[in-house]
Amino acid sequence: MATPKPEADQQSLRAGGRVINFGPGPAMLPLEVMTRAQQEFFNYGGLGVSIVEISHRSKDFVSVVEEASALFRELVSLPENYSVLFVHGGARMQFSAVPMNLIGRKPASKAAYVETGVFSATAIKDAGAYGTIETIASSRNVKFARIPDLDPGRVSKDTSYLHITTNNTAYGTRWNTFPDAGDVPLVGDATSEILSRVMDYARFGVVYASFQKNLGPAGTAIVVVRKDLFGNALPQTPPLLNYAAVDKGQSLTNTPSTFNIYFAREVMRWIKNLGGVREMERRNNEKAKLLYDCLDSSAFYKPLADKAHRSMMNVTFDLPTPQALEAFLKEAGKEGLYALKGYRDVGGIRASIYNGMPLAGVQALVSFMREFERKQG
Ligand SMILES: *Cc1c(COP(=O)(O)O)cnc(C)c1O
Repeated sequence: MATPKPEADQQSLRAGGRVINFGPGPAMLPLEVMTRAQQEFFNYGGLGVSIVEISHRSKDFVSVVEEASALFRELVSLPENYSVLFVHGGARMQFSAVPMNLIGRKPASKAAYVETGVFSATAIKDAGAYGTIETIASSRNVKFARIPDLDPGRVSKDTSYLHITTNNTAYGTRWNTFPDAGDVPLVGDATSEILSRVMDYARFGVVYASFQKNLGPAGTAIVVVRKDLFGNALPQTPPLLNYAAVDKGQSLTNTPSTFNIYFAREVMRWIKNLGGVREMERRNNEKAKLLYDCLDSSAFYKPLADKAHRSMMNVTFDLPTPQALEAFLKEAGKEGLYALKGYRDVGGIRASIYNGMPLAGVQALVSFMREFERKQG
């Protein structure tokens, strides 16, 4: 394993007039990858053209897709019986693609969903067009501040799949252990935490994530599918959404977002060089702990997510008054701490600290928070 390079410090984070970006997505990407993409944008690999100017069927681009896929497999220790697909339309498109590909598995055309926030609610709504959707647990009654209790034994055998959102971006909660519904395949929307923690993919039938939180620019998603689930697509499924067809075409059914896939490959090379997902997880835990310790040791800030289900990617909290909140956002902005405003239905503050956010960025936020509390508290 290569020796991990020292992380960016606060000074390098702010170089070139950049701010420290806590936005939920599209989000901050690793500085090293941004710089490399900039350097080779004009003339990719000495070809004399940009990566965005070459054919998706050229050997140079095909090798990018192949390496991206191989790197993902390696980083998550993906079992052989899974395929890795790159598809258009981000995660939202998967809210339709999942039922189109899976709900026909059983004659009842039924799927079970757990409602843990705005994205799972939209997934439930979108899936409704293709079959019977049962919301088997929800934490709506506590404003999605926790993951609801769930008895997976309640999922009946004629259910085609069970859908969860592994990390809830708006509320700052995550599943620490995943439900086991026996033969009913588990489907996970891991958009806001892909490659941020060690996850056992063998527990899932399908895992999907759009790029713009941990992988690269928006518009593309990675979809991991257990191969025995191919072949159940509804007849009206468009070829670009049909998992088996995309797999057969090696994610090149039509022209994919070549830049996005290139960028994700660079992000995954970066993760691998730093020591893989385990090292990413260690860093993410360290970053999140710094913030949560600051919240827990304060009588001023009010953490919003239940302690047992706290996200390591999105840290949510509130301030004592709307005036204090407004002042916090204004002063943070002046300090170059960007996009900290909470999700509109939640309010308060949300600090998104994905893989691309170095420890130094979180340290800058925590220093600001301590100073703000001292002045206001
Ligand atoms: C951001 C996000 C989405 C939406 O992704 P799009 O690419 O905009 O479709 C879906 N699910 C989760 C959990 C997210 O964080």
